[in-house]
Parts: sequence; structure tokens; C-alpha cells
Amino acid sequence: MELYKETYQPLLMDVITVPSPDCYQREPGQSCEEHSTAMFTHMERALAQYAQETCAVIVEPLVQCAGYMRMYHPVYLKKLREACDRHGVHLIVDEMAVGFGRTGTLFACEQAGITPDFMGLSKGLTGGYLPMACILTRDEIYQAFYDDYQNLTAFLHSHSYTGNPLACAAGLASMSIFENEPVLENNQRKAQLMADSVAELKDHPHVAEIRQTGMIVAIEMVKNKTTREPYDWRERRGHQVYQYALKNGALLRPLGDVIYFMPPYVINEEEIRLLGKVVIEGMSVATGDES
Ligand SMILES: *Cc1c(COP(=O)(O)O)cnc(C)c1O
Repeated sequence: MELYKETYQPLLMDVITVPSPDCYQREPGQSCEEHSTAMFTHMERALAQYAQETCAVIVEPLVQCAGYMRMYHPVYLKKLREACDRHGVHLIVDEMAVGFGRTGTLFACEQAGITPDFMGLSKGLTGGYLPMACILTRDEIYQAFYDDYQNLTAFLHSHSYTGNPLACAAGLASMSIFENEPVLENNQRKAQLMADSVAELKDHPHVAEIRQTGMIVAIEMVKNKTTREPYDWRERRGHQVYQYALKNGALLRPLGDVIYFMPPYVINEEEIRLLGKVVIEGMSVATGDES
């Protein structure tokens, strides 16, 4: 997203970007799988052209969260793993937001049946209770840095609070819940309830799409349902939904005019129904239309 980059542009590394496989952009009648497959041609072309000077490809698997909760098909990750292997380029997946059950599997990558070379984790690592993040990598890469001290190949990287014991304790507590309770199974029921709670918005004149991956549901609010023309961003329609929700017992955090739920897994059925109700009412207020 340009917003996050423009100020720091002179300091940033040169990166090659390719168009997103985001299924919101698919043609009418095209399946998400077909669209994500077709969009892979851009990645394949970029790899063929730049593999020699490319260290790694980085993706956020299945859901581009800060990028308006746009979602794509796992087939893209499968193809990406295969192409990265073929071109000798590492694959980095950013599972900060989608890791730890958010998409329905413990890690989003599992839905494509792939193993990345690096995986970044945070948020769900501690269930959100304390800040902690980590990067996992394969033994092969670990071994490249592991050597006799005299060879000076150690990977030097740390923060003041790396391995902070309190955060580690929170992480371990969260991991033990995954081990001892059927979290992913319970989430399946909750995800279905989340879908049901806003299902009626499908026919709303200002809803272009309701999309869902596991415990993320996003509603794309637009000016014109048929052409998908967005509202003028200065009208801040999403913010109006947020304000309505705040007055009615729910804290939402829309991304522009994309309203979404990404609740903690302790949410109960009644709370899910409340969220749905508040969003439906809030959207009537923000768009001036009943669903
Ligand atoms: C939150 C988030 C980050 C940042 O993680 P930190 O642990 O705060 O550095 C990176 N990527 C994604 C997708 C995120 O959601």
C-alpha cells in the first residue's frame, strides 16, 4: 500500500511487485480458482525475468489483510512454491495476521499444502495478549549461519526485549489452548455463524461482495452494486458504520469502505449475532438504504 511506503521511499529496497490474485477482481462467471490461476502468469513472468537478482518472494497467504481484506485461492500459493523452487528463489510468507487458525487451518499455507522457506508470525502467537513476533525458517537456512565462531557467520539480529519471558509465557499459554481445546473445530461453527449474521446483506443495494476465509468476513460497500463503483472516499461511509457500531456496543475497524469482522476466538454466539445486527443497521444508516 502506497500510504505505508511513500514517506520512506528513499530508504526502502527496490522491490518488484506483481498484480494481486485478489478474487474481487475476477470477471463475472469466473471462479476464484480460475482467476487466481490466471493471475499467476504475472508472477511467473516476473520470476522468469528477475530470478537471477531476486532473493525471495514475499506474500501474505490467502488474505491480504491491510490491503482491504482481499482474498485469493490457495492454488496461487501452490504454483508459487513450485515456481520458487524451479527458479531457486526463497518463499517468505507473512502469517502475522492470518496465522494461528484465522483462516480455518492453523496456518494459511496448509490450505495449499506448501511449506515456505521463511514464515513470519506474531499477533495470534500470544493470542494478542502481549507483543511477540518470530520468524521461522528451514534447517538448511539455519545451517548456513551455524558455524564455528571464528568464521563469523552468526546471524546478528535482536531487539532489547527479544525472547521477553512474559510474552513467551503468554505465547505458551496460547499454544496450550490450541493443544488442549478443539479451537479450529469450534471456529468452524463460529465462522458459519459469522456468515449467517450478515447473509442478508448479499442483496443490499450497496454491497458489492461479502467474502470470507475462516474467521475473517469482509463486506465491500460500494456506491453502485452493478458497476462496483466505489463511494467517494471523502464521504467516509465506512467511518459512519464504525460510529454507529460504537454507539451500539461493537468496536469495528473498517478499512475505508470495507467493513470486516476478525474477532478473537473467545467470541460467543450472542456476540456474533450482535456484530451482524449492528453492521446491518450501521450500513443502512451509512448508505441510506435498507437491505
Ligand atoms: C501486524 C502485521 C505485521 C506487523 O507485525 P509486527 O509483529 O507488528 O511487526 C506484518 N504483516 C502483517 C500482515 C500484519 O498483519
